[in-house]
Amino acid sequence: EWVNFVDFYDRIIDRFEMAKEQNVTFKRKLPKQAIFVEVDEDKMTQVLYNIISNALKYSPEGGQVTFSLKEKEDQIIVSVSDQGVGIPKENIAKIFDRFYRVDKARTRKLGGTGLGLAIAKEMVKAHGGTIWATSEEGKGTKISFSLPYERSEEDEWS
Ligand code: ATP
Ligand code: MG
Repeated sequence: EWVNFVDFYDRIIDRFEMAKEQNVTFKRKLPKQAIFVEVDEDKMTQVLYNIISNALKYSPEGGQVTFSLKEKEDQIIVSVSDQGVGIPKENIAKIFDRFYRVDKARTRKLGGTGLGLAIAKEMVKAHGGTIWATSEEGKGTKISFSLPYERSEEDEWS
């Protein structure tokens, strides 16, 4: 279905903000105008849920999570960045693999099966997009994904 991704993303962030029990600040960098994309809402909710859950899970007390959404040519780029533990360079390519978890000892206490990002990757791919991570150990992690976007005539004229 066609979804205004700005509102859709904003509402999902709201839900996390209301439910969070940690001392973490949310910062939103969202466009003012609507951006309509054709997505499966349930699947996209799952993608965002998996990414945002990680950002919170790996955030330190008092950390900030930044949510952004940008148009770039024929794509939109959605990203979630945190100020958490980060991911070592040598492991970053593997975090989208099924059951992969960085440093089992470190992450055991945080729980999880290592499926969240693998599922997110499948679903983003099914929408014709790509997903990637940039991270610096001890500084934080940014997970981004793209979705194809065809600017409609109404968008250009309004
Ligand atoms: P699940 O999502 O199934 O509950 P999980 O969170 O461990 O378990 P993924 O979401 O697939 O699994 O993430 C894979 C691994 O990537 C994590 O175990 C963690 O080591 C690393 N990771 C993912 N997101 C972050 C993040 N924001 N900061 C630091 N490490 C991360
Ligand atoms: Mg996860």
